[in-house]
Amino acid sequence: MKIGIVGTGMVGSTAGYAMALLGVGTEIVLVDANPALARAQAQDIAHATPFATTVAIRAGEYPDLDGAAVVIIAAGVGQKPGESRLALLERNVEVFRSVIGGIMKAAPDAILLIATNPLDVMTYVAQRISGLPPERVIGSGTILDTARLRSLLGDHLGIAPNSVHAYVLGEHGDSEVAVWSSAMAGSVPIVSFAEQIGRPLDEAARTRIAEQVKGAAYTIIEGKGATWYGIGAGLARIVGSIADDERTVLSVSMVNGDIEGVQSVPLSLPRIIGREGIIATLMPDLDTQERAALKRSAEVISDYTSKLRF
Ligand code: ADP
Repeated sequence: MKIGIVGTGMVGSTAGYAMALLGVGTEIVLVDANPALARAQAQDIAHATPFATTVAIRAGEYPDLDGAAVVIIAAGVGQKPGESRLALLERNVEVFRSVIGGIMKAAPDAILLIATNPLDVMTYVAQRISGLPPERVIGSGTILDTARLRSLLGDHLGIAPNSVHAYVLGEHGDSEVAVWSSAMAGSVPIVSFAEQIGRPLDEAARTRIAEQVKGAAYTIIEGKGATWYGIGAGLARIVGSIADDERTVLSVSMVNGDIEGVQSVPLSLPRIIGREGIIATLMPDLDTQERAALKRSAEVISDYTSKLRF
């Protein structure tokens, strides 16, 4: 399966690297406004494949995306230390106008996978500009926030993160919602699990963990200017689920019909991902507080998307 990546900075190239190492797809084409960068990234990643898989990776122009089943869009201007994700909006909408025009001409049947921040708003922008059905325009959303939550809960409980079933939903950003009421460890409700093994998850512990998840990107940005490994692996995971028609349930973003009375809002919920994109969306049981927080998150995003004109 052919996969395109437009925008081969840190996030796009790391996604390509992760796919090459994991053997996701058979052919990867890198496109960037800076063709020398795309060429250099393709060569560098290609030199890793003899140690890993037989995925063919090369640089190209938009026409080389012809026949791509998935195109990752990681093009944009980067987040500066202290800059909120939503403040990036205006600069990145202009980038998307040119990028999506190029992709749609070459690969009109591709599923778009959005990685540019502010993530949810850019997923909305991509869906509107492309005119594709919402289930074919996927935003990486809270896939990474969910992974961070599971990792921290695994540490707290002393169990493997893959035995933790918990999600961060809503915005990939400050208004995101860690859902506790339906979280499980094994098949046991997580708060009860925590009590039974003597590592309680009281209100203070839950707040501390949720804040750590929310602050993770800011902490990394302080130290190294941006984040790329976690999201690169998350993007490879989503593409893998599409390529193999896995039907894995992941928390990703797309434009929803109605969330708590907010219309046409892009945000993350658990969704089944397969060869045709998003096959179904699940709404977990939420308590009153979580429901209100999800509504607030939808309103925060909608506040921005409603100001955009297409
Ligand atoms: P990140 O850390 O999010 O990957 P980078 O700044 O490293 O951010 O990468 C963003 C990439 O997007 C850069 O390589 C830049 O050249 C590319 N880019 C910016 N605008 C466009 C555009 N209009 N078309 C294609 N690529 C673009």
